[in-house]
Amino acid sequence: MARRKYVVGNWKMNGLSDAISEAQAIFSAATGHQSVDVALCPPFTLISAMVAAAPGAAVGGQDCHSATSGAFTGSVAAPMLADIGAGVVIVGHSERREGFSESDADVQAKAEAGLAAGLSVILCCGEPREVRESGGAIDFVLAQIAGSVPASFDPHQLAIAYEPIWAIGTGLVPTVADVAAMHGAIRGALAARFGDVADDMRLLYGGSVNGENAAELLDAGDVDGALVGGASLTAAKFVPIIAAADALG
Ligand code: PEP
Repeated sequence: MARRKYVVGNWKMNGLSDAISEAQAIFSAATGHQSVDVALCPPFTLISAMVAAAPGAAVGGQDCHSATSGAFTGSVAAPMLADIGAGVVIVGHSERREGFSESDADVQAKAEAGLAAGLSVILCCGEPREVRESGGAIDFVLAQIAGSVPASFDPHQLAIAYEPIWAIGTGLVPTVADVAAMHGAIRGALAARFGDVADDMRLLYGGSVNGENAAELLDAGDVDGALVGGASLTAAKFVPIIAAADALG
């Protein structure tokens, strides 16, 4: 079965209450693009309001704890996200792996927690610039995949986002050939470990995706969607990316 395109916005630590109208505009426009699944992951503080403002839309968290409850000050558990109507969670973003020292094992445990809570999980991976320059990007990312993808899952509930760290928020993007090579390698590794299940998993590209480059990146081999940071904050910038995915769907 063909994989539907999937476009996810990661708002990071951006947005106050007045940003909900922007989310409404995005989800409203997305209803006109039926061949693509769209999700927004705002800060935790906006999830409930976004769910209320856009009933039925896919809203998610940008992280979750691996435990279901306990003495983890400041953390949010996956069942808590589900409890307030979130349907999605991002785990293993490089800003978490680097800034909060999250290991592959941590990311795997968070992914398992998200799956167990019934959330659609987006598991991120990606290499730093020096690894890309030394020619080791594919080996680096496949090691992350080996260490952080759970042992079992419903392939429709787990997507992988390949986000080269040097491309996030920089305006730099890999060549389409490099994206296709990486995504092909990721799918190959998933197929070697999980068999046919890998065919149903969606592999997203992330890193400086915008309305101008989205069509080309989304059309690359084994690219099933995009994880978008800066360009997901406004309907004016995000809807063209959704439309580009829809046109390929
Ligand atoms: C991200 O943080 O997931 C991301 C891809 O950011 P940007 O689109 O701004 O590069």
